[in-house]
Amino acid sequence: MPHLALRQVSLRYGEVHALDDVSITVPRGQIVALIGANGAGKSSTLRAATSLKRVTAGEVLLEGEAVNAPARQQPTHELVRRGVAMVPEGRHVFPYMSIKDNLLMGAYTRRDKGAIAADLERVCQRFPRLKERFMQQGSSLSGGEQQMVAIGRALMAAPKLLLLDEPSLGIAPQVVRLIARSLLEINRNEGITIVLVEQNSRMALALSSYAYVLETGRVALEGPSAELMHDPHIRRLYLGG
Ligand code: ATP
Repeated sequence: MPHLALRQVSLRYGEVHALDDVSITVPRGQIVALIGANGAGKSSTLRAATSLKRVTAGEVLLEGEAVNAPARQQPTHELVRRGVAMVPEGRHVFPYMSIKDNLLMGAYTRRDKGAIAADLERVCQRFPRLKERFMQQGSSLSGGEQQMVAIGRALMAAPKLLLLDEPSLGIAPQVVRLIARSLLEINRNEGITIVLVEQNSRMALALSSYAYVLETGRVALEGPSAELMHDPHIRRLYLGG
């Protein structure tokens, strides 16, 4: 059974059809990428998957159970409790809170104090830059550091499924590489399933085992990432020839 699946999902904002008949399968323990241009529907796919927006048709299945369908929508916090964490586009780091408190916000649904402390230590080991700036305010961080906080905060929820919306956006190439490496480690060492939404198609295809290409709210193409990397359509439109 897939960890997450969208079955023929459509999603509308009023008259705007953001998703039309989108089917996506995310096997447990894999990294699956969603690529596509601005407005193709990548963020809407994540909103459907995390129940932030009710789908207008089709269904979202989490571990086989329908969690978002026209007649039934589980609240997002319930999905968090079931091990789903999202790193939103734009990072949304709390500017007037310290890095430490920003990270701890990710654990607000948890009561296991000892494990929370151990996870905080693990996040600091993964991103030593955050440890160095532990008591500094979120507003004092660079874009790359804020992205590390956003990922660290999601990890503090002890997720089994991590969804990331454009983690490389507006970040220096060096830090993009560091974040890419971290995502691979999180996946391989901790067994966390990852859905990676990216406009940086090269990074997304390099990290993922399977990828979907969204164009105007539909799945235009899908396949093993290693194959898509050599697809002429993908090369021309998404990898710069
Ligand atoms: P981006 O990278 O720019 O976020 P995207 O691939 O994530 O693009 P979506 O944000 O999912 O695309 O948007 C899909 C479509 O839905 C677009 O046409 C967009 O304008 C529209 N849309 C998104 N959010 C809303 C909203 N809150 N109200 C109305 N239309 C919306």
